[in-house]
Amino acid sequence: MNCDEIQESLSLYADNGLRPEARSDCYGHLEVCPVCRAHLEELRAIRRALTTLSRPLPPPDLIPSINQALVAEAEAQKLRSRATLVDLINDFALEWLQPRAMRYAFSSLASVLLFVSAGHIFVFNQIVVRMRMTWWWWRMFSVMARLHWLT
Ligand SMILES: [Zn+2]
Repeated sequence: MNCDEIQESLSLYADNGLRPEARSDCYGHLEVCPVCRAHLEELRAIRRALTTLSRPLPPPDLIPSINQALVAEAEAQKLRSRATLVDLINDFALEWLQPRAMRYAFSSLASVLLFVSAGHIFVFNQIVVRMRMTWWWWRMFSVMARLHWLT
């Protein structure tokens, strides 16, 4: 392993996170390379300095402000869900009452009325034709009967 590869794995080496053979390779390189040994020492010094830092405390109003933001978000979600339901009902009503839908309904009704009235006209016409034929036969019968009585 060269110095770049060793220096990339120095953090894992310091944390004892390398596999045993990689760790022994790294250890062997550190025995003979003062540059990588200096990097390792610098890394350990930084870590020691970090452990001496005091743990930062959150500002005292952080938890109340988070709670306040959560309550406000919950209220906003409630309002949004109500608005969404109202919008859904409104959209449904608008869709139902659209002129397009009413036009289709009227044209369907007009088709049904036309079909029914055409059927009635046909039936009425048949009745008229039969009545005329009956009248014609009655006239023929009466003419024949008159001729028969006259002779
Ligand atoms: Zn090295």
